[in-house]
Amino acid sequence: MDRDADVIISGAGPAGTIAAWHLQKSGISTLILEKSSFPRYKVCGAGLTHKILSIIPFDLSEVIHTTVHDFRFSSGYTDVYTRTSELPLMYCTMRDELDDFLLAKAGEAGARVRTSEKVTEISQDAGGVSVKTDKGVYRSLFMIGADGASSRVARTFGLNSDIEWGMAWEAEVKSTPEMLQKYACTVFLDWGTFPGGYAWIFPKKDHFSIGIGGPAHMARRMPAYYEKFLSSTGIPVLETISNRSHPLPVRTRKAEFHSGRVLVAGDAAGLTDALTGEGIFWAVTSGIIAAEVIKCSLDRENPDLAMYSERINSEVMPEMLEAKHIGALFNAVPLRIHHWVRDSERVWRAFGKVLRGERSFIDVPLAFGKWKFLWNPLCLLASVIQKRKEKKYMNNA
Ligand SMILES: Cc1cc2nc3c(=O)[nH]c(=O)nc-3n(C[C@H](O)[C@H](O)[C@H](O)COP(=O)(O)OP(=O)(O)OC[C@H]3O[C@@H](n4cnc5c(N)ncnc54)[C@H](O)[C@@H]3O)c2cc1C
Repeated sequence: MDRDADVIISGAGPAGTIAAWHLQKSGISTLILEKSSFPRYKVCGAGLTHKILSIIPFDLSEVIHTTVHDFRFSSGYTDVYTRTSELPLMYCTMRDELDDFLLAKAGEAGARVRTSEKVTEISQDAGGVSVKTDKGVYRSLFMIGADGASSRVARTFGLNSDIEWGMAWEAEVKSTPEMLQKYACTVFLDWGTFPGGYAWIFPKKDHFSIGIGGPAHMARRMPAYYEKFLSSTGIPVLETISNRSHPLPVRTRKAEFHSGRVLVAGDAAGLTDALTGEGIFWAVTSGIIAAEVIKCSLDRENPDLAMYSERINSEVMPEMLEAKHIGALFNAVPLRIHHWVRDSERVWRAFGKVLRGERSFIDVPLAFGKWKFLWNPLCLLASVIQKRKEKKYMNNA
């Protein structure tokens, strides 16, 4: 078959560029098609938990703005305390810089990159995949849909079932140099105020990224929550540079993540976690798995990407499902957990270990020891309580 690349990748976010880098390093040619021109602003808090360092194959220091050691927690805008970790917990960047950096790395590894070119149609046959854009038509053996939350690839192949939609809202805010210096290592987290969601402030080198995330059906209440949260922090706003929302896709069940020679990764696969909304780590993880599976499939007479769905279901989905459980439990008894994090060294250390990748969500039920059997019924009950709280909050508008 005449082809433009072994693998065509739609989307140059972290899922697409990391997959391209790994494929190129294995001698597999890639063509990245990206609808925007780079660098491009992306609505995102751009907080990287420490655990991502173990899976990103580059030194990210040139795009890291700040290193986070402190968390300033509040609940209902009050009950404020700050917890500190000697070890770094998170790193804050801006997505235009991070994504441009990762795209450059993919390009250096040999990936062909066509930006400002939107994928409009995809079809496949026994020999490969045909991809139509607003500028041309391309052929490849495989395709990775890394085209984000509204993925055309996922929609074309019906790979978008069982997704629960969250919504997150992000403002980039200029403040005073004193405030930026004071909070350069601090993440603000207000939780237990907005059922099913929370508010954050991430420090950047010259501004703060301030956001609200929660269930999509509660989006109309987010601006009011944002205003109250911001005024409770005492952070003066000199200028709001940007202020936008974007959907958060959360996969709620194990599913098919491939169809024939096409697979989806990152947000296109619905891989943001329901507890924190973290998606960059999962975009990178699924991009790596995609590259590994395609590498094995290329050598086969009858290529098959079923292994990709199997690996996402066994390596990623258990974390996604447990994040949803923990989120429901938190939302059922938020104040109790807020005070637990304040009062218990063990709980605060566990919080840090999850961010650092030394523990994961699937370890949480294990902490219940012999009472572990109660975990699933408890989570079920908690999710009913959470739905009620969401309804009550919306009715009190
Ligand atoms: C407000 C907000 C805050 C967030 N904060 C965080 C955070 O702090 N930490 C974190 O880990 N996660 C965060 N997330 C989630 C994170 O942004 C996503 O999970 C992550 O961007 C997913 O990466 P991706 O590569 O799958 O997709 P994306 O980064 O969305 O990249 C997809 C790319 O595909 C391109 N594209 C789309 N359609 C086409 C097409 N038809 N043809 C060609 N190209 C196309 C897009 O232009 C885009 O560049 C946040 C999300 C939101 C909305």
